[in-house]
Amino acid sequence: MSKKVLVLEDELNIRSFVVINLKRAGYEPIEAGTAEEAFERIADNPDIRVALLDIMLPGEVDGFEVCRKLRAADETIGIIMLTAKSQEVDTITGLMNGADDYITKPFSPPELIARVDVIFRRLGGKAESSALSSGPFKLDLTSRTLLKNGERIKLTATEFDIVTIFLENPGKALSREEILRKVWTKGNGTDTKIVDVNIRRLRIKLEDDPTNPVYINTIWSFGYKWGE
Ligand code: CA
Repeated sequence: MSKKVLVLEDELNIRSFVVINLKRAGYEPIEAGTAEEAFERIADNPDIRVALLDIMLPGEVDGFEVCRKLRAADETIGIIMLTAKSQEVDTITGLMNGADDYITKPFSPPELIARVDVIFRRLGGKAESSALSSGPFKLDLTSRTLLKNGERIKLTATEFDIVTIFLENPGKALSREEILRKVWTKGNGTDTKIVDVNIRRLRIKLEDDPTNPVYINTIWSFGYKWGE
């Protein structure tokens, strides 16, 4: 499976940053600075599997329009919108237009690569391996094991799924509802307190000092975030 990733971004600094980090992670970035260029690159590279799309672009066609057209032409292509902090409403519009995910600028290389890896995994691309890592932690999705500094930490299936969501979204604030929905799938009538209970248990297992967590941080009256 191709590891081609379209990078549509008109700001050269951001584009170079994304391209360098994709290359380091073993992907093959295909660059475009305008919507027109993006469509040309896609025509030349029909095996592009994931597209990173900036929203504000020079010319008449913006990132949303590119997203709509890509989605209309290809059900399976992974689409990640690159949004600015002030564009939260735009983010929702992007997801409505068929995007799979979004990253808010400025983003860190691990955040970027984690998102791209997730999309590739979903596509069955099996990026490098089915492992996620963060600091001292290494999560193997195939054997469903978690290591901290090389030592196995025993987790319940539910705890394992929560850690997976965290490591797939480092630095992203996740609401209790979102965690509930993703881990308990149906979440029908399930109280979000069950999330808090599991987090408390996870902290005891993962944190050096569970009363001063550094990995699973609380976002007051909202939810939780992995890392800074
Ligand atoms: Ca732009």
